[in-house]
Amino acid sequence: MGLARTTGSMTTCSEADWSSAVKLIDGAGQVCLACHVRPDADALGSMLAVAVALAGRPGSRTVVASFGDDPFAVPGILSFLPGQSLLSSPADYPDRPEVMISFDAASVDRLGRLAGPAEAAGALIVLDHHASNGGFGTVNIVDPAAAATAVLAAELIDRMGIRLTEDIALGLYAGLVTDTGSFKYAATTPQVHELAARLLATGIEPGTVARELYDRAPFSYLGMLAAALGRAVLEPSAAGGLGLVWTTVTRADREPAELPLELAESVIDVVRKTDEAEVAVVLKEDDAGNWQVSVRSKAAVDVGALCTALGGGGHARAAGFSFAGHPGEAVAAMLRLLDRQ
Ligand code: MN
Repeated sequence: MGLARTTGSMTTCSEADWSSAVKLIDGAGQVCLACHVRPDADALGSMLAVAVALAGRPGSRTVVASFGDDPFAVPGILSFLPGQSLLSSPADYPDRPEVMISFDAASVDRLGRLAGPAEAAGALIVLDHHASNGGFGTVNIVDPAAAATAVLAAELIDRMGIRLTEDIALGLYAGLVTDTGSFKYAATTPQVHELAARLLATGIEPGTVARELYDRAPFSYLGMLAAALGRAVLEPSAAGGLGLVWTTVTRADREPAELPLELAESVIDVVRKTDEAEVAVVLKEDDAGNWQVSVRSKAAVDVGALCTALGGGGHARAAGFSFAGHPGEAVAAMLRLLDRQ
């Protein structure tokens, strides 16, 4: 049982680009997939969904799937995603893939160790929804209006004539849930819910994704959250009086219980509730002592442009950048740029 496919494309990408992409994949002896470093559920879920779809085709060609992190490890919070037996280390990735597909990466450097293979690939299909994506592929399926890369991955799977299975659907659904903020953000169109309905019709449980991604953590998470929230600072005059709230999650907050950095991701979802602040910022200290900065806005400020100016990128309401230095300097740089916006 399954709902009928929505007629027509869900995206604004051209028919010519879609048909080149499908032709390239159909004609390749080996298809190499890659998603951005430190993958989130949209990047890894979309890539694994396509990997499972390709590997399940009768007379299937070889599929290689990886991401360019060193060391290479799937974030624990994403260990529930199906298809991980298809993953391999970037060390084993072909130097010059015949056909390569990039998922959810706004620029080639976001592929980390796999940027080299992407530049050397015979053909590079770029699947992405970041507005800042300049189109670094030979075929660019880039739609900034798409709620998630998972929307584009679903259409690719449809266009290849592959039927959705539970394992394919779970990866796509995880991407859709993550990038729509659990179907709350502005990009959550009726078409997004139609796709979600098709995915659920395969038999997957929406509760699985919610529980794994949002509704569980070890007890020590509460201590880390308390420390981070206790340090929150409100800057009421920021962004022309719209306000900014920020805090840090330090290595020291995570170390006593050896909490992975990914458990700090959800802190921003509490901080951004602040009524008095249009912009919310959480600076997370990674294991190397650098800061991974998450930035969110509500309606007025384009934090994608803000983070791009600081060497990062993202979307208008959700973006980020990396920073080496004192967190106060990063906040000061943001306040200066916001005053100019
Ligand atoms: Mn995404």
